[in-house]
Amino acid sequence: MPGTEYEQIVLAGADDHDLTRLSEYEKVGGYQALRKVLGMERQAVLDELITASVRGRGGAGFPSGRKASFVPKPEQTSKPIYLTINADESEPGTFKDREIMLRVPHRLIEGALITAYTIGSTSVFIYMRGEYLTEFEVVKAALDEARDRGLVGANILGSGWNCTIVLHRGAGAYICGEETSLLESLEGKRGQPRSKPPFPAISGLYASPTLINNVETIATVPPVIMRGGEWYATLGVENSNGTRVFSLSGNVVNGGNYELPLGISLRELIYNIGGGIPNGRKLKAIIPGGSSTPVLTADQVDVTLDYDAVGAAGSMLGSGAIIAIDDRACMVQLALRVSQFYQHESCGKCTPCREGTRWMTALIEKIELGHGTNADLDLLVDVCERILGRSLCPLGDAAAMPIASYVDRFREEFQAHIDQGCCPFGDSSSLDGILSPVQQHARMTRELAVLA
Ligand code: SF4
Repeated sequence: MPGTEYEQIVLAGADDHDLTRLSEYEKVGGYQALRKVLGMERQAVLDELITASVRGRGGAGFPSGRKASFVPKPEQTSKPIYLTINADESEPGTFKDREIMLRVPHRLIEGALITAYTIGSTSVFIYMRGEYLTEFEVVKAALDEARDRGLVGANILGSGWNCTIVLHRGAGAYICGEETSLLESLEGKRGQPRSKPPFPAISGLYASPTLINNVETIATVPPVIMRGGEWYATLGVENSNGTRVFSLSGNVVNGGNYELPLGISLRELIYNIGGGIPNGRKLKAIIPGGSSTPVLTADQVDVTLDYDAVGAAGSMLGSGAIIAIDDRACMVQLALRVSQFYQHESCGKCTPCREGTRWMTALIEKIELGHGTNADLDLLVDVCERILGRSLCPLGDAAAMPIASYVDRFREEFQAHIDQGCCPFGDSSSLDGILSPVQQHARMTRELAVLA
């Protein structure tokens, strides 16, 4: 990751040390936070997490300390309590959890142990995206090393507390990033969402209380414990504490992962840190939180990257994937690419998403090919509205929201396709480097098949 002037929290030390090795991780204070909490009351640890108010880094942004507080205490339930870590990073444009797993796997393991201890769990499952083969090997090696040193397993560090960590590989379905689908998959069933309530905190894995957190959220826990929740809360801006590892991609000179305080502007990220738009092109649009978030226009480049500001601008911070789009891109082609992905990944369980994503794709394709009519454009907007808020799980909204925003903010491009009977960009359109989900998914699925 290219360096920046900002202090790194989750990725701290990774530029100067090989933190995949336990000895190196210990040189930067590794596992000291675990030693600290083993001498603390569970409630005191939870209070620190609540004070830090780390909003879930997977996409939903719910405060993780409060989420942990919803899990019944061990004395309140006769069932086992589980911690499940969502490492099924699949949102197109997002590649920060893989960097965390590749570079600071022990921080993830330490955060998992502390979180498990906090909620009274002795069983942790890391559900990892099936395509993340290298990440799997790196985390597995780190786990083996931690287990050999008495940091995972029975009687951890002589405390009398036991905790196992199981690494589980998914099979390449985007829907398994949705928490209840992930649980179904972990139980060996088809990965499809459950109706909520009950929520996983009450009835999750094997119908037992389960806390589900994202990789980045969990990797934030050790520094929060070492330096305190109040310290962490001073980072970032109000309602958006701390740092995030932003994945910057698309038409930008220096794409990559950057850990930055929440509240910096898109302009600073894209132009100062990312080096701007290559080849003298102009910025045309920005996707601020992964492919499922509504697109922003270039004149919104001064929006700051915090939950409230991005929300006020009409989008979402989502998974923290920032995608810069230059003026060569045909927004109808891009909408088609996004729609194809969600159609492909729809699990088919509910009608609005299963049928709606097909309709969206068919209508956008028709418009892109120059065969669309004004009625088709109206119908496309109507289909988006009929999916929004009517689907069983967030994938329906994730499919409809961005498409509605492409039409709303770049309607003139859709209209030009209809009026001219062709794509006005013709051969000059380029989506190079911008979201190629269906093709990417197909390639990864083939790789999985070869390796299976
Ligand atoms: Fe499946 Fe889509 Fe319905 Fe979610 S919204 S349950 S992915 S069909």
